[in-house]
Amino acid sequence: MPDCHPVRVRFAPSPTGSLHIGGARTAIYNWAFARHYGGTFVLRIEDTDPERSTAESTEQIIRSLAWLGLAWDEGPQAGGDSGPYFQTERQALYERELAVLKAAGSAYPCFCTPEELARKREQATASQGATGYDRHCRSLSEAEAQRRIDAGEPHTWRLKVPTQREEVSFDDLVYGTVRVPIGQLDDFILVRSDGKPTYNFAACVDDALMGITHVIRGDDHLSNTPKQILVYEALGREVPAFAHLSMILGADGSRLSKRHGATSVEAFRDAGYLPEALVNYLSLLGWSLDGATTVIDKATLCESFSLDRVSRNPAVFDEAKLDWMNQVYLKEMGAARFVDAIVPYLEKAGFATAADVAARRNWFEGVYPLVAERVHTLAEVCPLIAYLFAGDTLVLDDKSVEKCLAPAGTRELLERCASTLEGLAPAWGHAAMDTALRALAAELEVKVKAVFQAVRVATCGNMVSPPLLESLELLGRDETLRRIRTALPHAGL
Ligand code: GLU
Repeated sequence: MPDCHPVRVRFAPSPTGSLHIGGARTAIYNWAFARHYGGTFVLRIEDTDPERSTAESTEQIIRSLAWLGLAWDEGPQAGGDSGPYFQTERQALYERELAVLKAAGSAYPCFCTPEELARKREQATASQGATGYDRHCRSLSEAEAQRRIDAGEPHTWRLKVPTQREEVSFDDLVYGTVRVPIGQLDDFILVRSDGKPTYNFAACVDDALMGITHVIRGDDHLSNTPKQILVYEALGREVPAFAHLSMILGADGSRLSKRHGATSVEAFRDAGYLPEALVNYLSLLGWSLDGATTVIDKATLCESFSLDRVSRNPAVFDEAKLDWMNQVYLKEMGAARFVDAIVPYLEKAGFATAADVAARRNWFEGVYPLVAERVHTLAEVCPLIAYLFAGDTLVLDDKSVEKCLAPAGTRELLERCASTLEGLAPAWGHAAMDTALRALAAELEVKVKAVFQAVRVATCGNMVSPPLLESLELLGRDETLRRIRTALPHAGL
């Protein structure tokens, strides 16, 4: 589809909060599109709203994008030839482009005060007339306008919408042809009375000067597009292609919002989702590879991404599917990456510090097979392995004691288990333990399960736990024996 120009796309967040999953999906589509066509992915920070923009949000957005692994080719930190990449640093460019519009007679100063504008809007609403600006200042003579500017009268600059045209139309790459009658577009403000550009003007100037070929963004901007097309045309710039992405809904069918729980990328990170799982999941919210494949790694995504497989129907965010997807990636991540990823959770739970982990990496890698198949998120890992770190504070679950330790004869059984396991030194491995405990069960003529469950409750505190013998391997011989012997008073005579 992109024919002559090399593809240049951008993600242009306003730093007025953290990066949410809707924005993350927009970023993913831009990134994958750029990668697919060997193009350039630009990150631009739209920080023109001084009251709502914060440096903290900018940092958070940048951190989230980096965590997702969506490397941008130009933008903050990356640099590039089309900078600066913060709108607040581009004021001179907006002034220069406004001068182009003034010279072409495509923009005019408007001296209507906010109060006058509000009154006009009220009157228009009351009489059910058009609610847009009534173009009052458009008819001022040039000399009159200049006189008022020279006298220091506050004014904005508005686009002189070409009213002789019938409509503005464009072929959206997702929505198809969109036509808007010119009568629906009022002479919107380009530059405010403080000299700062509005979003519609700044975004156009930036997209034009940055050579953006495809604008891929949320469909909440669909109504801005005709206005922006008029600005490109007035500036004499090429109009880029547009692709608007449908919104993401919660399970209840309403637009996804905080009401639905975690929606920021960092909240998902903290809840223990893996970046590649989130990218995979979000990429499928509105796009599909072949309608069937669900597990798609980044390389495949970039290789196969195209806008013609993006749906215009709203996508529904389904946390259960994301959990499933995350588990797929958890199972594949391998012990080494698991250990790196689990450190903050271990620290938070007070189980180990980063230094402890570094000193005993092998041991922590041994935890991975115990949990990999049993959790959906990293946050679920620590509760599952708390028993490994409990030491002498291990609490035995009442029900488990009643079922597996209380039956008559269990004390002797446990004593025999302890001496059997003690005799295994130095071969402390699960295969040796398995053989020895099975032999013991045969000798005592009890079920293998009864032996394992008694040892499990004594050492793990619960009749439900990750695999027993691998757990004992991690606990070590001394701690295993100490736990079994500590549990003896709970066992039936
Ligand atoms: N800054 C806008 C936003 O965060 C994006 C505008 C655009 O992509 O054109 O919604």
